[in-house]
Amino acid sequence: MDDGLPPIKGFLPTSLIEWEGRLSCALFLPGCNFRCPFCHASDLVLRPDELEDVALGTVIEHLRANRGWVDGVVVSGGEATVHPGLPALLGVLHEHVGGVKLDTNGSRPEVVAELIEAGLVNAVAMDVKAPLDDRYSAVAGVPVDPEAIRATIALLRSRGIEHEFRTTVVPGLHTARDMVDIARELGPSETLVLQQFAPLNCIDPAYGELLPFTRDQLRDMASAATEFVSRCRLRGEAFARGHTR
Ligand code: SF4
Repeated sequence: MDDGLPPIKGFLPTSLIEWEGRLSCALFLPGCNFRCPFCHASDLVLRPDELEDVALGTVIEHLRANRGWVDGVVVSGGEATVHPGLPALLGVLHEHVGGVKLDTNGSRPEVVAELIEAGLVNAVAMDVKAPLDDRYSAVAGVPVDPEAIRATIALLRSRGIEHEFRTTVVPGLHTARDMVDIARELGPSETLVLQQFAPLNCIDPAYGELLPFTRDQLRDMASAATEFVSRCRLRGEAFARGHTR
């Protein structure tokens, strides 16, 4: 773009889900350096030029009109950190809202560090897609250095910034044991959110035919993972250590 800001390809005016505890709006930026086969944002990742741009002015007007109500903006994707103009966009948003949360796949720790350092993000939600070993690349659909993911996890832990880790649980890619391994990696002071896989508009169309895990299967995974983190949340249900459902 001429102004150097990344294009906005999707806008959710209000949400209570995107940033727990806040009424927020969400922006979706195009492109991603991963190709998770189960990703349901396939248009945003693979064909962003076919999507209409959302004018930044529309977002700002919405924030002005809802000042006092909407108290956060979630910047999601795709993968927002692939855009060199992201810091400038976050700077503009900060002029109009009380807080900005970044959703990231955690593959670019140096970018996340710069954004935190510059005070441009108030919270981060990071995907942890698999245990941090050779399983990671298969789930991400591209070669991934698990050390980069580990570095972003360490960064979020050490900076005292509000954060959560989340995993989309996909049959054929994940087992219950994987959730335990992820939780063990995160450690006892962290929150892990398990998200249900949605077989819709997937990057790999074969995933559109998959049957997601049942709610009970996800509950059992969350319950097992809870032993190694402080809380394991499963859309609307929380499992705390020492708590049995
Ligand atoms: S699910 Fe994977 S491919 Fe899709 S936006 Fe997230 S990191 Fe990128």
